[in-house]
Amino acid sequence: ETTLERPAQPRVLTVSNQKGGVGKTTTTVNLAAALADQGFNVLVVDIDPQGNASTALGIPHGADRDSIYEVLIEDFPIADVIQDCPDIERLQVVPATIDLAGAEIELVSLVAREQRLQRALTAYHSYRAEQGLDRLDYVFVDCPPSLGLLTVNALVAAREVLIPIQCEYYALEGLSQLLRNIEMIQKHLNNELEISTILLTMYDGRTRLASQVADEVREYFPENVLKTLIPRNVRISEAPSYQQSVISYDPTSTGALAYLEAAAEISQRGGEQGR
Ligand code: ADP
Ligand code: MG
Repeated sequence: ETTLERPAQPRVLTVSNQKGGVGKTTTTVNLAAALADQGFNVLVVDIDPQGNASTALGIPHGADRDSIYEVLIEDFPIADVIQDCPDIERLQVVPATIDLAGAEIELVSLVAREQRLQRALTAYHSYRAEQGLDRLDYVFVDCPPSLGLLTVNALVAAREVLIPIQCEYYALEGLSQLLRNIEMIQKHLNNELEISTILLTMYDGRTRLASQVADEVREYFPENVLKTLIPRNVRISEAPSYQQSVISYDPTSTGALAYLEAAAEISQRGGEQGR
């Protein structure tokens, strides 16, 4: 009983925060799985050399595999490196291998170094149309914890930035650097980019600190913070070791339900914004 509407065009969301361990990968994987579960066509692009999103979705990403590295550096089409998620229909992944660690430097000397992901994605949308494949509804790009050229590529390729924020002390500290980068990209490389979504992660409702941080973030970003909070939940942290999203690992866990709710909210908000 899906009541969520398909977006009018594919929505590309870059999941970014230069802090590590705030829930970028967890959010990418589980929102993508939740939306695919709701019937949408979803693509996850892993641009973190760690390849955690690839691992978490059960996608082989050994050094011998073609991956996002070949797309960014050697102009391979996405269609040549894309893989199906084994246990979730309609979810596909462009994996990252460890090769990508060198890409940050290799990109520097390439033509259109900031636009390589954008071009590859645009070409892939056309490819699907030419092949008579159903179009994508959502693309999530999982960023590394840095603001280098890989993240720049992700921000140029997207219209929306999704920032996961961990409900901890110092949550907002360091964010100003990300915000400055986003402004710079908006000004020079992608004037359609906007911070569309802030998601509060690893929320522990028992602590006063968590609710204070949540309030503070809502005050700072009055328009963008999702109502849904992602709780700290052991099922969420266990799922990746079974190479599954929490949506398939334990669909009735509070973690899975929270990500399903967040996904529905993102879908509905997108509708309101007429995208
Ligand atoms: P990032 O991609 O920003 O570095 P991750 O998504 O890898 O962050 O999350 C960091 C760690 O926190 C991982 O071990 C992950 O399993 C765990 N984690 C993330 N979200 C939750 C949550 N809601 N509850 C429990 N553990 C979580
Ligand atoms: Mg990560």
